[in-house]
Amino acid sequence: MRNKIPRVPVREQDPAIRAKNFEEVSYGYNEAEAVLEASRCLSCKNPLCVPSCPVSIQIPQFIREIELGNFKEASAIIAKDSSLPSVCGRVCPQESQCEGTCILGIKGEAVAIGKLERFIGDWSRENNIRFTDKAPANGKKVAIVGSGPAGLACATDLARLGYNVTIFEVLHEPGGVLQYGIPEFRLPKESVVKTEIDNVRALGVKIETNVVVGRTVTIDSLMDEEGFLAVFVGSGAGLPKFMSIPGENLNGVVSANEFLTRNNLMRAYDPEHDTPIYVGKRVVVVGGGNVAMDAARTALRLGADVTVAYRRTEKELPARVEEVHHAKQEGIIFRMLTNPVAILGDERGWVRGIRCISMELGEPDSSGRRSPVPIPDSDFEIETDVVIMSLGTSPNPLIASTTPGLDTNKWNCIVANDEGQTSRPGIFAGGDAVTGAATVILAMGAGRKAATAIDRYIKDFS
Ligand code: FAD
Ligand code: SF4
Repeated sequence: MRNKIPRVPVREQDPAIRAKNFEEVSYGYNEAEAVLEASRCLSCKNPLCVPSCPVSIQIPQFIREIELGNFKEASAIIAKDSSLPSVCGRVCPQESQCEGTCILGIKGEAVAIGKLERFIGDWSRENNIRFTDKAPANGKKVAIVGSGPAGLACATDLARLGYNVTIFEVLHEPGGVLQYGIPEFRLPKESVVKTEIDNVRALGVKIETNVVVGRTVTIDSLMDEEGFLAVFVGSGAGLPKFMSIPGENLNGVVSANEFLTRNNLMRAYDPEHDTPIYVGKRVVVVGGGNVAMDAARTALRLGADVTVAYRRTEKELPARVEEVHHAKQEGIIFRMLTNPVAILGDERGWVRGIRCISMELGEPDSSGRRSPVPIPDSDFEIETDVVIMSLGTSPNPLIASTTPGLDTNKWNCIVANDEGQTSRPGIFAGGDAVTGAATVILAMGAGRKAATAIDRYIKDFS
């Protein structure tokens, strides 16, 4: 009978209303909804959902506890493997991970694992549930560069093993992309991000903000002068890419990273803050990933008419299905098979439009996706005041350039094996700094693997 129960829909803000505010779009499940949704799970003997979770959360076990109404037990099960359930329940691409392999998804709809995880994360926060069990302090110091998901996950596991962990963060607020990139309407900062980071702090992890590793200190000075036995680099991939097309230096062209940082970290949308941000009347966002959706939906909420220009078709959009669906509901226009070739300016040096060319899909490229090929003489113009470039990011070369012997590849990514070991003994790395821009949960998985390897390294060599 379980598989006959339809997936419980999640309540959301009305699209016409939310398109004008920064409050969270999804309300999540209440207790009755969560218990009903949990009752759909078959508690599979060989659950395919678990190996598809990069941090191996014991999914059927926590869902079973929800079904029984044992929310604290469910929370304890998740806490063994993740310190960020409220975050991951909101932003993970579950459709291509745990839910993508859920047995119920073969003939019907997968269990809403992400929504259930979010429910437990939120319930724990609202009920002040925190798990601070850890091994006795061993007095050994480990440094972590960057307070994004990779650094936080690594810090959590090491602190639980008894290490004295300090995270060094360049920005004035910790959280990495969770803080500066993903907007408030998808991931509330004060209630969700700050609380889950406080849970990491409650394990004894110190977070020093406003420290530029590579300038204020170096990895070598941390190891040679400050007594850190190992360092984990989780510095992300925050350097935006541009297209190198004419007009990219005009006023009104901005990277999605800068646009989102002004809005999220520096609260430009809030009249109480002085941070300037410009959207004009019309905005074109170039790209099709989560970052592009966030930039587009932010610009919409700031009052602009927004078009997303993407060079492949909707099928190839890399953004989460839910984000694309929400963006469309809110009134964002999508122009597929459209590639910019020049940004057009007025006599004052401001953007007035963007010239694009129509594309068609050709043969598959190395990623397996069909390559977009320009259709000759198909140029057209879109009038716009602002162009937001959202074409991906790469790691900042600062750390590698100030750490002799730390190998990087041609994309500036730090070279590390599956356990995070880099070319320098004692230095480990993971998350976007190693893979290039990826996902929160992959970064967390890399941070956890590195924590295990750091523990082994310190036990072997000190
Ligand atoms: P980051 O989160 O980038 O954290 C790195 C931290 O290191 C930052 O705080 C940075 O300030 C700090 N740092 C960098 N250099 C130094 C230095 N020299 N010294 C000290 N500190 C330093 N993923 C999803 O799974 N779902 C989504 O919906 C999603 N949406 C996204 C939306 C946006 C706008 C963006 C930009 C990304 C999104 N992602 C999403 C991707 C995801 O956020 C990243 O893959 C993930 O945050 C990577 O984690 P990380 O810890 O490796 O790096
Ligand atoms: Fe439950 Fe689906 Fe996982 Fe089976 S695969 S245990 S039904 S969530």
